Amino acid sequence: MINVTKTYLPPIEEYYDYLKKIWEHGWVTNNGPLVQELEQKLKDYLGVKHLIFCSNGTIALQIAIKALGLKREIITTPFSYVATVNSILWENCTPVFVDIDPNTLCIDANKIEEAITENTEAILAVHVYGIPCDVKGIGSIAAKQKLKVIYDGAHAFGVKLNGTSVFNFGDVSTCSFHATKLFHTVEGGAIITNDDELAQKIIHHRQFGHSGDDYFCLGVNGKNSEMHAAMGLCNLPKVDWLIKKRKEIFMWYTRLLAGSRNKTLEIPAGVEYNYAYFPAIFSSEREMLAMRKELENDGVFTRRYFFPSLNSLPHYKGSTCPVSEDVSRRVLSLPLSHDLTYEEVERICSSVTSQVLTNV
Ligand SMILES: *Cc1c(COP(=O)(O)O)cnc(C)c1O
Repeated sequence: MINVTKTYLPPIEEYYDYLKKIWEHGWVTNNGPLVQELEQKLKDYLGVKHLIFCSNGTIALQIAIKALGLKREIITTPFSYVATVNSILWENCTPVFVDIDPNTLCIDANKIEEAITENTEAILAVHVYGIPCDVKGIGSIAAKQKLKVIYDGAHAFGVKLNGTSVFNFGDVSTCSFHATKLFHTVEGGAIITNDDELAQKIIHHRQFGHSGDDYFCLGVNGKNSEMHAAMGLCNLPKVDWLIKKRKEIFMWYTRLLAGSRNKTLEIPAGVEYNYAYFPAIFSSEREMLAMRKELENDGVFTRRYFFPSLNSLPHYKGSTCPVSEDVSRRVLSLPLSHDLTYEEVERICSSVTSQVLTNV
């Protein structure tokens, strides 16, 4: 059986060494020493100013929205995981969907301005599959229209754009450290910003809005534990190796699918990619589903990631976005994890190439 993702787990002795430390001092949560150590090491690794570790990537988005004081319309992408739009809805803001660029699959910056109204306060864009958004285009629209920019970087750990972490763009970025993501703490996430004042607000929001006897704002519980930080401290030194392994597997896929007129991810110039996902776009939904069934019969489990397009969710309907709706019906994420063998990738690809993949 081959699953779409497989969680990397460090050697158990390494985790046990951290557990011993926790048992020695008895501090298990509330910004403990391992949480602080992980935050510092992540800041150094990523080259960012502030990084606030929290309980998951969804609460990271919600805290970012709350800390920026957003209350009205937020322009966002329909092609993402449901957590992106749900965080906007949970913060009582209104999502306004703008369709995606068929090449990067990220929000189409050229279509943002026509969606701006007097109620627009921010743009929440996603670096889809870890491919950076048009940060330049989005940044200039935001500056001109005085909008805040949040990047959902749940897929973008370790991704660099022109030599700098993609988390250095916008007012604030978030990441997910869920077990299915490239770097994980079992459950977890982070909020990243270079703005000192905003970072302080985020820290207050993470812990009920107060620090000791001083109350600042309507906060939530977004903290994470020492046990989760310990997993992160075990995994962080392995990230470069994990990216290297994944790159190798990504290249096998690219080579083996090259003859099939497939549409797979293109890594733009200037991007140091993290090889987080391998989505393949088929010529029709029917072909994609047939392919999926064939792979399943062979013990290979893929994921419709992302489906449905978020503007057609049952709990929230937005305006139509033809490109996103079309791509989300035809896309399938193929298995990608650090320990896939060449024979396994070959087996997957021989099924996939029996179907005709096509351009978006
Ligand atoms: C995984 C993911 C999230 C949510 O992160 P959790 O840590 O699972 O809460 C948000 N946005 C995107 C794009 C994701 O893939």
